[in-house]
Amino acid sequence: MKSLPREIKQIIEPQPVTEGAGVRLKRSIGTQKLDYLDPFLLLDHFQSSHPGDYEAGFPLHPHRGIETVTYVLTGEVRHKDTLGNSGSIGAGDIQWMTAGRGIMHEEMPQVRPEGIAGFQLWVNLPAKFKMIKPRYQEIRSGEIPEIKKEHGEKIRVISGTVAGVPGPVTDIAANPVYLDVSIPAHTSFRQPIERGHAAFAYVFEGEARFAGGEKEDGTKVTHPKLVVLGDGDYVQVATDETPVRFLLVSGKPLHEPVARYGPFVMNTEEEIEQTLRELQEGTFVTT
Ligand code: MN
Repeated sequence: MKSLPREIKQIIEPQPVTEGAGVRLKRSIGTQKLDYLDPFLLLDHFQSSHPGDYEAGFPLHPHRGIETVTYVLTGEVRHKDTLGNSGSIGAGDIQWMTAGRGIMHEEMPQVRPEGIAGFQLWVNLPAKFKMIKPRYQEIRSGEIPEIKKEHGEKIRVISGTVAGVPGPVTDIAANPVYLDVSIPAHTSFRQPIERGHAAFAYVFEGEARFAGGEKEDGTKVTHPKLVVLGDGDYVQVATDETPVRFLLVSGKPLHEPVARYGPFVMNTEEEIEQTLRELQEGTFVTT
């Protein structure tokens, strides 16, 4: 089969949203323009040096049926849950939290001179794994491999494999690839992505041309933007005068019904009602 580039399918302008107890962030998946990019339910980008934008944080709240993936670029997020887990995610660290049948946790960005920056992605769980035991994969920055290519491209491999190097996050149902890609000016970059998987690039620094659109050499995308990629075998990106940095994420679609209610994502309305009943009766979290 001929190898095909994944062209731009949609460019999403991130929407300002206030979430938690008053955290200002930019949301690009889980919006009116892009409700669901199966298996990805939500993508939030937080970045501020003003404590008032983030210090209220995300006090105690539940999740069920999904995974929440927090990647911190700058600053620190402290977390703890009612199962007794607690810790802190700092610059370059990632937390891949599989909520499964349920956790109640808080996520509190710390006020620091450098402020806060990072992402939270929600990945859906297939029906057969929605009620599994909660699990954390918390990876320190130093344990995330960084591939350096010949023209100065840098790829931090969080999950998936690049140039034979596997990322530290493993055994995730959606078989996701999660990369943090930096490309210098005047460089072209190509990365294979499994055909049939959903894929996006979230451009958060600089600008680059992505394959597709009216011009033969691609369409220029300037940060912050979400680029939804059409199907194919690889993504093709090129920079001009400005370097670029983006998340490149892909995963296997579930093709299952979605019943979504805030932090709970199940397959049917009955399962959501059951979840709300358990919350009310105090039986939601079981160890
Ligand atoms: Mn949460």
